[in-house]
Amino acid sequence: MKNTARILNGIEIAAEIKAEVAAEVRALQAEGITPGLVVVLVGHVAASEIYVRSKVKTSAELGLYSEMLTPPESITTDEMLALIADLNARDEVDGILIQLPLPGHVDTRRLLEAVSPEKDVDGFHPINAGRLQSGRPALAPCTPAGILEILRRSKLPIAGQHAVVLGRSDIVGKPAAMMLLNAHATVTVCHSKTVDIGRYTRDADILVAAIGRPGFVTAEMVKPGATLIDVGINRLTDAAEVERFFPGDAERAAQLARRGSTLVGDIHPAAFALSGAFTPVPGGVGALTIAMLMHNTVQAAKARRGGRGKA
Ligand code: NAP
Repeated sequence: MKNTARILNGIEIAAEIKAEVAAEVRALQAEGITPGLVVVLVGHVAASEIYVRSKVKTSAELGLYSEMLTPPESITTDEMLALIADLNARDEVDGILIQLPLPGHVDTRRLLEAVSPEKDVDGFHPINAGRLQSGRPALAPCTPAGILEILRRSKLPIAGQHAVVLGRSDIVGKPAAMMLLNAHATVTVCHSKTVDIGRYTRDADILVAAIGRPGFVTAEMVKPGATLIDVGINRLTDAAEVERFFPGDAERAAQLARRGSTLVGDIHPAAFALSGAFTPVPGGVGALTIAMLMHNTVQAAKARRGGRGKA
């Protein structure tokens, strides 16, 4: 059977958003405002260092001011609170991002709540979560905001659709469910205690998988023609496993040989063939996250400093 599923290209959509953000930055600069983002990276977590570097690089490309602070692994909760208080007080800082995960001895929740909600460009502060829930303007978490951008910009219907979200984390599942609800979908949320997940996924017009389990959603679990949004990022390092997910795929085998790993999402690649549209991994949802962070930083600058430029 010919595969007619539409690929939702996250890289192209992210480029579109970044171009819009760059234009907004130029307009703000004409008023004497340069949106500023500070990323705080504690200690040395290799994956976090890569993410933070690309956040700083993208900021520069779009004309934002950015700063990276790298306190040592040994920093205490109180020292971090003082650092955040300083960033909250600096007028040229519009966005504060505390890169997670933090070392185990630091009280992550307390720190995230210490970030001023107006500068909370990750959208993790309870005030922003509450604003999102009550349908008020909010800085929304970047990954789920990216999902909504993909659906909207691809002109896929949301209102009246049955959206099933797998995963209920504070950073992806819950806010994604809330945003889909705000966009008038009928939403079902599944998690590790849900009995017979397939019963729900088979009825999904839009299926968002955010659980971190490689290929969890199989072809039998999806409704033909559904929109599949795969948030999962799972690294495969075993050749037999790669062959099981991507049978006969020479490109994947070459990637494994070259890099020692290849990525698969939470949706089995065989399920994509049945869908109406799907986000690939990599190159789907993941590509949007930094673009949405840049968008949030500019929105934060406009909300906080709008009308306070040179005039
Ligand atoms: P998380 O905090 O570990 O949450 C996982 C969620 O999945 C939990 O709600 C958990 O249920 C549920 N779950 C786990 N196993 C399950 C199972 N077998 N059946 C049903 N539900 C199950 O993960 P996260 O931070 O939300 O991330 C999820 C995935 O998205 C990961 O692969 C992550 O790498 C990826 N991600 C990608 C981006 C991006 O693209 N930029 C950003 C963030 C995350 P319980 O609540 O019951 O434990």
